[in-house]
Amino acid sequence: MNVIEVSGLIKRYKELVALDNFNLSIQAGEIFGLLGPNGSGKTTAINCILQLLTYDKGELRVLDQEISPTSYDIKRRIGIVPQNIAVFPQLNVTENIDYFCSLYISDKAKRRDLVEEAIHLVGLEDFRRFRPRKLSGGLIRRLNIACGIAHKPELIFFDEPTVAVDPQSRNAILEGIRRLNEQGSTVVYTSHYMEEVEQLCTRIMIMDHGQALATGTNMELKKLVGINERIEIELLEGLDAAPDPSQVATLTPPSPAFEHALELVRELPHTVTAKLDGNTLRVSCARSRSALNEILEVLNHSSITYGRVYSEPPTLNDVFLEITGKELRD
Ligand code: ADP
Ligand code: MG
Repeated sequence: MNVIEVSGLIKRYKELVALDNFNLSIQAGEIFGLLGPNGSGKTTAINCILQLLTYDKGELRVLDQEISPTSYDIKRRIGIVPQNIAVFPQLNVTENIDYFCSLYISDKAKRRDLVEEAIHLVGLEDFRRFRPRKLSGGLIRRLNIACGIAHKPELIFFDEPTVAVDPQSRNAILEGIRRLNEQGSTVVYTSHYMEEVEQLCTRIMIMDHGQALATGTNMELKKLVGINERIEIELLEGLDAAPDPSQVATLTPPSPAFEHALELVRELPHTVTAKLDGNTLRVSCARSRSALNEILEVLNHSSITYGRVYSEPPTLNDVFLEITGKELRD
């Protein structure tokens, strides 16, 4: 089933075009990631899809039906975890979740079970009677999530649910989202943290300036980039330097030998970029099996020895960099 189908969506805030002919198609069962820097239009897209914002142009279908601001039957099947925390300060954890759940479910006994399930899902068992102001930032985020998902919606939007949370809460949140998806919910997840999106999402859209720049699985997106590999090599010493490793650390780069080798590495056929960070040589390479060998040969010829060698596949940041010419900071 087509859970979300957006075509030609345009949203202006006065002069500013926040969504610029935006298209999006999401199938049932996906964890779909909207990845883009702050201000790229992620929240605006969600709010338009949910008819919480008016828009200038475009066609929207949600859960296989046209949606309007009064489509309560469709909205009942949707959950939203907003970017800005929306909980009541005077209600405790259980009461908050129960309140939001009561907007959809009137049967009290059924609700009690659902609230319990939501508490377990986000790991708030020890905080049932806590009011929000007694909770840490990460725990409030978890409460915000529990409030949005307790009624077991078919489609759930998570708008930057992990901003400024501690690693433990972040893991609990990502794990909870995976479980909701396994239980049958389709998930739309926005973030500017590329690593999260990479780990969590079945498909990813990279957006910027209100436009979809590229969409695909993590692997498909990475195939778009010319950079195939990042190589990091710890350079240890020049020709005459002492072999004692305890002295290696006290060498003060940039040594002329390193600088010279850097120039040679830059001229290699597969090098895209190369730089020296202290005594670490960082090289981005185009697709090739011989790239690493060629670099090591240059170092050998220059009589530079090396310690650790790391090689990493490209990141979504490389994809973003290649498409937009700028970094997507994580
Ligand atoms: P994101 O969620 O990706 O950070 P937003 O959808 O919040 O991006 O914002 C997209 C663009 O629209 C930004 O340039 C932002 O400044 C602008 N914008 C968002 N909300 C408003 C508003 N209520 N009035 C005017 N401009 C807005
Ligand atoms: Mg936002």
